[in-house]
Amino acid sequence: MFDFDNTYAGLPKRFACIVRPARASNPQWIHFNSGLARELGLDVPALQSHEGLQVFSGNIVPDGACMLAQAYAGHQFGHFVPQLGDGRAVLLGEIIDRNGLRRDIQLKGSGMTPFSRRGDGLAPLGAVIREYIVSEAMFALGIPTTRSLAAVTTGEKVFREQPLAGAVLARVAASHIRVGTFEYFAARNDTEALRLLVDYTLKRHYPAEEFAGNAALALLDKTIERQARLLAQWMLVGFIHGVMNTDNMAISGETIDYGPCAFIDTYDPDAVFSSIDHSGRYAYCNQPTIAKWNLSVLAESLLPLIDAETKQAREKARAMLEAFDRRYAAHWSAGMQRKLGFGNVESGDDELGRAFLKNMHQQQLDYTNTFAALESSLDGASLFAASDSLWEAQWRARVARQPSGARAARQLMRAANPRVIPRNHQLERAIQSAYRGDYSVMERLITVLAQPYQLLAENDEYSRPPCETERVRQTFCGT
Ligand code: AMP
Ligand code: MG
Repeated sequence: MFDFDNTYAGLPKRFACIVRPARASNPQWIHFNSGLARELGLDVPALQSHEGLQVFSGNIVPDGACMLAQAYAGHQFGHFVPQLGDGRAVLLGEIIDRNGLRRDIQLKGSGMTPFSRRGDGLAPLGAVIREYIVSEAMFALGIPTTRSLAAVTTGEKVFREQPLAGAVLARVAASHIRVGTFEYFAARNDTEALRLLVDYTLKRHYPAEEFAGNAALALLDKTIERQARLLAQWMLVGFIHGVMNTDNMAISGETIDYGPCAFIDTYDPDAVFSSIDHSGRYAYCNQPTIAKWNLSVLAESLLPLIDAETKQAREKARAMLEAFDRRYAAHWSAGMQRKLGFGNVESGDDELGRAFLKNMHQQQLDYTNTFAALESSLDGASLFAASDSLWEAQWRARVARQPSGARAARQLMRAANPRVIPRNHQLERAIQSAYRGDYSVMERLITVLAQPYQLLAENDEYSRPPCETERVRQTFCGT
């Protein structure tokens, strides 16, 4: 069924525990991602069968599966927890996809593991659907992310505030190595494991590259770059992760662990949706700063490998971390230029972008739709109320100055400004319908979100911001 080629299982025993998924009494399909299955080089009919359903629910262990719960630690809301680990997930194994890339296939919500602590190891249907839809939407938006291969219900009840249908998500990731994986070994002063993990991670995520100098520094450098790029992409699309704990930051640079995440409708830099984020630590505008903080935790964990002299190690790590701001700013500026339709660079571009956002905030406009309206205004339609005509005049002059002209501006903007994003109220509708046994709302949403940059009249409903009664003010972990 899968041509597994497991390497994480070859690391020393203290990296993971072997587990068995819980039994699912009555597995049923929610959704199967045949497009992704083909990309992974999997046998689609075999997986869409009754046997496939048993595999994705955890009832059958496929041949060659490793069934591991990975160990990791993490800073949760700034507080260090020395042992977290896969408390509700099991790694089935690794496969090599059609592009030659190694991918993990993991079941999430498949029962207790030695890392479950006080949790039940299960996932309610709503959380699985949320992660399925948002991760696939992020992929379609061109943002690095874990993917969703399949979702099934188990027939079991999951008890939260109320009994809910239980479900399992089959998640695909470049790897599940997190900042917290390094913290786990650093906290145990297990330098040998750290060294193995650094080498493993470099080989896994940069197979074609040779690293001549210090391996830990090289990994830090690469991770900083990928996170700087990822964070700029999140900010430019209006995504709030919601739980940027260090255990939820993947070294691969993929967005991982969709819990109380949200896309902003009305632009507000201070937006927070997560019900557990009381202090707004993970507010929209704080995300780049938090990413840098998480990277400093990674650096701290790597210190013993960077230099035998702690002071020297710290100096080297600090110098590298300082590059985060510059790298993030470069990615953000380039992305904002595309969103505004600028094919070349001018010194005032950042200011123009920031002023646009400021107007948007003051007038409480919808983030996604205002960029779309800006593109439409290339045809002459006026965008803002008269008070902002000065900005608009500057922007039009700027577009006109670019060598390739307004036509190129339109193309750039079309490719950089999505028409549809997974809006919170649409997600909520899909989830509530699914709990009532109707998956059609979810199906339709998945289809629409697969082409976020297309201007399709039939998708109008999905680009509409929520009305007052639809507005979602809080999102929940749902774990
Ligand atoms: P999160 O930040 O939600 O990804 O999860 C933080 C930690 O809590 C991880 O170690 C998870 O495996 C664990 N966890 C979350 N929900 C559950 C659950 N229902 N049962 C067991 N462990 C859980
Ligand atoms: Mg997590």
